[in-house]
Amino acid sequence: MGKWVVTAAWPYINSVPHLGTILHLLGADIMTRFLRMLGEDVISVSGSDEHGTPIEVEARKKNIDPRKLTDEAHSYIVKLLKRWRIELDNYSRTESEVHKQFVREFMLRLESKGYIFTQKIVLPYCERDRIFLPDRFVEGRCPRCGYPNARGDQCENCGSLLDPLDLISPKCAICGSKPILKETVHWFFDLKKLEDPVRKWLEANKGLWDNVKNYSLNWIREGLKPRSITRDNEWGIEAPFKETVRKTIYVWFEALLGYLSASKEVLERRGRSFEEFWYDKNTKTIYFIGKDNIPFHAVILPAMLIASDDRHPLPAVISSTEYLLYEGEKFSKSRRVGLWADEALYILEDPDYWRFSLARMRPEERDTNFSWKEFMRIVNSELNDDIGNFIYRVLSFIVRYFESRIPEPGEFDDIDREVIDSVKASYNGYIDKMLETRIKQASEYILEIARTGNQYINRRAPWDEIKRDHRRAGTTMYIAINIVAILTLTLYPITPGAAQKIWAMIGFEEPIERTRYNRDNIFVVNSGRSIGKLEAPFKKLPQDFLARISIIVEDARKKAQEDRPPYLRF
Ligand SMILES: [Zn+2]
Ligand SMILES: [Zn+2]
Repeated sequence: MGKWVVTAAWPYINSVPHLGTILHLLGADIMTRFLRMLGEDVISVSGSDEHGTPIEVEARKKNIDPRKLTDEAHSYIVKLLKRWRIELDNYSRTESEVHKQFVREFMLRLESKGYIFTQKIVLPYCERDRIFLPDRFVEGRCPRCGYPNARGDQCENCGSLLDPLDLISPKCAICGSKPILKETVHWFFDLKKLEDPVRKWLEANKGLWDNVKNYSLNWIREGLKPRSITRDNEWGIEAPFKETVRKTIYVWFEALLGYLSASKEVLERRGRSFEEFWYDKNTKTIYFIGKDNIPFHAVILPAMLIASDDRHPLPAVISSTEYLLYEGEKFSKSRRVGLWADEALYILEDPDYWRFSLARMRPEERDTNFSWKEFMRIVNSELNDDIGNFIYRVLSFIVRYFESRIPEPGEFDDIDREVIDSVKASYNGYIDKMLETRIKQASEYILEIARTGNQYINRRAPWDEIKRDHRRAGTTMYIAINIVAILTLTLYPITPGAAQKIWAMIGFEEPIERTRYNRDNIFVVNSGRSIGKLEAPFKKLPQDFLARISIIVEDARKKAQEDRPPYLRF
C-alpha cells in the first residue's frame, strides 16, 4: 500500500467556482475515491484562498472586516461542495491558524537556509486609499497599442505583458486618482539558486504531462528571477522576518503551502503525523490544476520544497488541464458567460450527471467546449442509453426469469471467454488511465465495458436461450451481472451516488467503497445473491431541454443568486 496526497488548486474565495474551476476539485475527489478502491493510503486536501488585494479592497468599500466576507463565503462553498459529493478529507482555508503558523515557520526556514533576501523597490501607491497597488489595480493607456483600459499586468486588447510603470496616464483602479511612486522594502525568494535542482527534477520525472514539462523547462531556459514573497497588504499572513515594518506573505506563496498545512491538519486530527506523509519521498503527491497555474506548481512549489528541506516529496503528477470553454467562449464573471457550480444543481439536482459530463469533457489534451448540446448527448445517450439501459436490462431479466436470484453458471464457451477477456482488458485500461489522472480517457473504458456488455446480451439473446436451455441462459446472465458489477465499480469514483444505488440493486449490503479493485478478476458477484428493488439508474433530459435552455439557465441563476451570501452575488 502506498501513501498519496491528492490535492486541487485552492479557489480564490471572491467567487463561486464555475464549471471550469470545479473541474480541479472534482478531479481530486475522483482520484481519491479511485485510489482508495485500489486499497491505497490517501489523504485529499484543498481549501479557500482568502487573502490578497481583491478581498481587502472589497472589505474596505463595505467598511467591514475582510474575515467576515470570507467566513460567509467559505461556509457557502463548503456546503456547495458537499452537494456535489466532493468529499475531500480536508477543505481548509488560508485563515486557519495551523496554516498561518505553518507558513511563518516555513518562511523562516527558507530564510535560515539562505534563500531569502531583501531589496528596496519602487511601486505605485495610492495616497487616497493609502495602499500599494498590485499590478492589476493600476489601469491606464497601453504603451503598445493605445488601448485606454489596460491593466498593470497585461493589456487585454493586444495581450502584451506589462509592468504598471509602463502605463501611460496610470490610474488607481479603486478610486481613479493618479498613483505616486513610493519606495518600499520587500523580501525575495531566490529562485535563481534553485534552477538546477528544479530542472533536473523536471527532466527526470516521467509522470509529468508534456504541457507541464515543456512549459516549465522553457521558463527555466529563459532564466529564473528572484520573486518577491511579501506584500504591503493589511489582509494576509504577517511575514515573520525580523523588521519593524508590517508586511504580509504574497498570497501565491502561502496558498501553495496550504497543501502541506491542510495535510497536517487532517493527519493530526486522525492521530497520524505530518512527517509520515510529507517527509517521505515515496509519498506520491498529485495536483489538479488549470494550465495557467503550471509555473507555480511545477517550478515555484518544487523550488520551495527543495529549499526548505531535502526530505519532501516533489510532485508526482501535475494534472494540469487545458481550458474548458462555455459555448465557445471563455468563462467570464463580468460578462456572465458560463455556468457556476451552484447554478448547475438548480438545473439538474443530482451532481452525478454533472460529474460524469465534466469527466467526459475534461480538457486533458486541448481546450474543450462545454455546450448544452454535448451535455444532453452525454446524459441521454451515454449515461442513460449505453450505461443505464444495459444495467437495467440485465437486472430486470434476472428478476423476471430467475426469481431475482443470480443464477449458477454452467460451462463457459468461446463467446463467454471472449467477453470476459474483453471486459478485463477495458477494466485494466481504466485503471491504467486513472493512475495517470487521465480521467476522460479512463471514462472511455467505462463506456467500452457497457457497450461490450450490451453486445454480449444481443449476441447471446438470453430471451431465446431461456426457452431452449435454462442453464445456458443462467450462464449468460451470471456473466452479464458481473459485467454490470465491474461497470458499477468503475463508475463509482465519477458517479458515487448512482454507483451505490446500483450496487444495492445488485444485492450488496455493504457500501460499494468497501470493495477493492482487482485487475485479474471480473467476477465479484456470486450466484444465489438476491437482487434488490429495481429502479432505472439514470434519467433522460426531456426532448425540449435544448429549446428551453436559456429560460432554464436564467431561472437557475436567480435561485442560486438568492442562496449566495451577498459578497458572492454578481
Ligand atoms: Zn495593448
Ligand atoms: Zn486609489
